[in-house]
Amino acid sequence: MTGWKSHFLKKLLLFTVLLASLALGGCSSAEAQKYIESAADQAASAAWDYAKEAVKGQLNDLGNSMGNGGSTGSSQNTSDVTPSTGTLKVHFIDVGQGDSILIQDGSHSMLIDAGENNQGKTVTAYLNRQGISSLDYVIGTHPHSDHIGGLDDVLRSFEVKNVILPPVEHTTATFEDVLDAVADKGLTITKPVPGDTYELGQSHFTILGPAGNYGDELNDWSVGIRLTDGNHSFVMCGDAEQEAEQDMVNSGLTLSADVLKAGHHGSRTSSSPDFLKAVSPSWAVISCGKGNSYGHPHKETLEKYSKAGIQVLRTDELGTIIASSSPEALSWSHADASGKEKPIDLAQ
Ligand SMILES: [Zn+2]
Repeated sequence: MTGWKSHFLKKLLLFTVLLASLALGGCSSAEAQKYIESAADQAASAAWDYAKEAVKGQLNDLGNSMGNGGSTGSSQNTSDVTPSTGTLKVHFIDVGQGDSILIQDGSHSMLIDAGENNQGKTVTAYLNRQGISSLDYVIGTHPHSDHIGGLDDVLRSFEVKNVILPPVEHTTATFEDVLDAVADKGLTITKPVPGDTYELGQSHFTILGPAGNYGDELNDWSVGIRLTDGNHSFVMCGDAEQEAEQDMVNSGLTLSADVLKAGHHGSRTSSSPDFLKAVSPSWAVISCGKGNSYGHPHKETLEKYSKAGIQVLRTDELGTIIASSSPEALSWSHADASGKEKPIDLAQ
């Protein structure tokens, strides 16, 4: 077992014991003792991956049995939600070729991805400028460096309450940096389960993916969410490609949204017809770098959007793009590197 794995496992076990001890108040002591014993037994005897799953499963069971503060999923129906009276802001931070999305609802905030390794400072500086000291959720969509490269900087710079990462077997050095940061902060990883819903202020988000097993296809493992404040909604699925998109369509979960974060930087491998039809957005935000070597966004994707009457906003053209949802409207602004916000003239 390598250093980070055993370190991480120890942290997980400690956390399990702590939670189980806390449970003594709410559950019978015999039950709590059983959790401690079986977690320790399984973790000690099993391989890392198995142990991680086992401990995590027990944490979830324990959380559910205690009605644990909303951090475990529920199958809340989006139509039951009372529309927010405040403002939900979604910032598509310009990190060049990559993704980084900050979501704020009142004093609550979350971050999806943090661009390449060299963008960690850009993202932390942006979050600092927004006055953020704590993140309710951090999602690393998948192990590619243009998404999770800067995430270790974020995890080390802010108080983070929940980390959501896909359950991929394959890892990269960059991904291990993130896991190290998670372990060093004593955090545990929440596994994304399609249909699970989490609260963020007056908004909430539902996990859409990964909704299948994608082997080495890391893009398809992307954690996808649908975020809504009851007034407007956003679908953001990292670099999920056609197969993963189809699985999300087949899942029967609500996909319709006002805004789609274009999958895989506007690549032709994503925004497949069925998925686009199910989301049926008015706007698509493409996060990509100026003159990137992949040719993102691809012409075919832009044509599909244009044909469907979807208005496109691109970080390579506008810098950071900010959507503000209020009960009255969804308004758009953008910011250059200095952070100065200006409204986007959508008539252009
Ligand atoms: Zn990417």
